Amino acid sequence: MTAESKTRIVIIGAGYAGLIATVRLAGKTRKQNVSITLVNMADVFVERLRLHEMAANPTIPQKRIADILKGTGVTFVQGAVTGVDLPNHAICVQTGSESLRLEYDKLIYALGSTIDRDSVAGVRENAYVLTPSGTNSVEALSKKLPEVNARGGTLLICGGGATGIESAAEFAEAFPKLHVQLVTQNGLGDFIKKPIANYMRESLTRFGVTIIEHTQIKEVQAGKAITADSTTIPFDLCLWTGGFSTLPLAREAGLTVNERGQILIDPFMRSISHPEVYAVGDASHPVEEPGAPVRMSAFYAAVSGANVADCLALEARGQTPKPFSFAYYGQAIALGEHNAVAFSIYPDDKPRGPMLTGKAGYNLRAFFLGFFGILPNLERRMPGALFWTGKGRYAAAKRRAERDPLKPVQIHMIDTPETH
Ligand SMILES: Cc1cc2nc3c(=O)[nH]c(=O)nc-3n(C[C@H](O)[C@H](O)[C@H](O)COP(=O)(O)OP(=O)(O)OC[C@H]3O[C@@H](n4cnc5c(N)ncnc54)[C@H](O)[C@@H]3O)c2cc1C
Repeated sequence: MTAESKTRIVIIGAGYAGLIATVRLAGKTRKQNVSITLVNMADVFVERLRLHEMAANPTIPQKRIADILKGTGVTFVQGAVTGVDLPNHAICVQTGSESLRLEYDKLIYALGSTIDRDSVAGVRENAYVLTPSGTNSVEALSKKLPEVNARGGTLLICGGGATGIESAAEFAEAFPKLHVQLVTQNGLGDFIKKPIANYMRESLTRFGVTIIEHTQIKEVQAGKAITADSTTIPFDLCLWTGGFSTLPLAREAGLTVNERGQILIDPFMRSISHPEVYAVGDASHPVEEPGAPVRMSAFYAAVSGANVADCLALEARGQTPKPFSFAYYGQAIALGEHNAVAFSIYPDDKPRGPMLTGKAGYNLRAFFLGFFGILPNLERRMPGALFWTGKGRYAAAKRRAERDPLKPVQIHMIDTPETH
């Protein structure tokens, strides 16, 4: 077996999707002639689900990617991917002062998403966002919060989605002198069933969070946010949680993407324009619904990452992969350090049945968070450990569509706006 004859698989991005794909693929192709390289900006596994907790408590430990990859045979490169050269099957990586070029036979694109800092004026300069490091990041916010809390200052959180709600509860509980205000464009919790929304409202009110509804922020300036009707909301700190966007890299490279910049993929996770490129997690969007509507979320990231590993492992053995299909289980929204609301969204992401609240909801959320955190290590020890239901849903929808051509399998060229 020569090194030259190996299939070179390069994975970019080591979030939930990329890291799970890497370790599962390495485990499943141990006897195959493949080489696997993982490229990621940071040398630690950033659990984005925990970023708001990390802002309140920076001592939460992070796992080193090198430790997770121990014994897998995967080569890890710490660096920023700066370009994808599709015609020549290569990526460009900046590692400190050095520029690298890595060639691939198959590329797994798992660069995820980031908080959109550019749609509203002044956000980039004047608001913090829940990204791990750099200017106005979690790292910077965690240094400021204790000081602003000590003098009873105001934290303005812009964005009433799940991330904004979780952050408001977390910071209000962790910093009792802080005056937390949550601004939301719609009514609080309009994106979810009424009882869940009511429970979230009660929890936030108990922590003293001021909820400002039906208010759109049109600009963030130093120390104040300006609303669409020109009202000024002053703040000491502003946290922007107003929506996710993707990197321009995929579009710039020439991959076919949707209007959010997500790579459009077929049921085998391949780019519809460049089949040697696979995409997973927040950076991807299937053109045919894989059994459930796709939403940027840790669950979709994990199962799509696991599924791409299965597809490539089967291809390496000369077998044909099955189309990607899944169903959701549940969702949980944290409401402080000991409280959460959890509910079933099985199978199609619609909230159903009773909700679990308080400590019970919290414990369920903690279990899933813990599970996602240990999943890469679990996959290293037991490749294929992550299993999911709904594997027949795509095929069933296809069969229904064939019986009734007027009801085709749903095509999702345009994404739904909500995330998480
Ligand atoms: C505060 C917060 C709370 C959330 N809570 C929930 C929740 O409760 N439930 C839920 O389902 N979802 C939640 N989400 C969303 C969830 O975290 C994402 O959907 C998920 O992380 C997507 O996983 P991913 O692997 O696709 O991308 P990511 O987790 O974004 O990982 C992408 C990786 O690529 C790396 N990368 C990016 N650009 C480059 C580059 N140029 N070069 C090299 N490496 C690069 C990043 O450093 C990162 O390691 C939350 C998000 C946030 C921010």
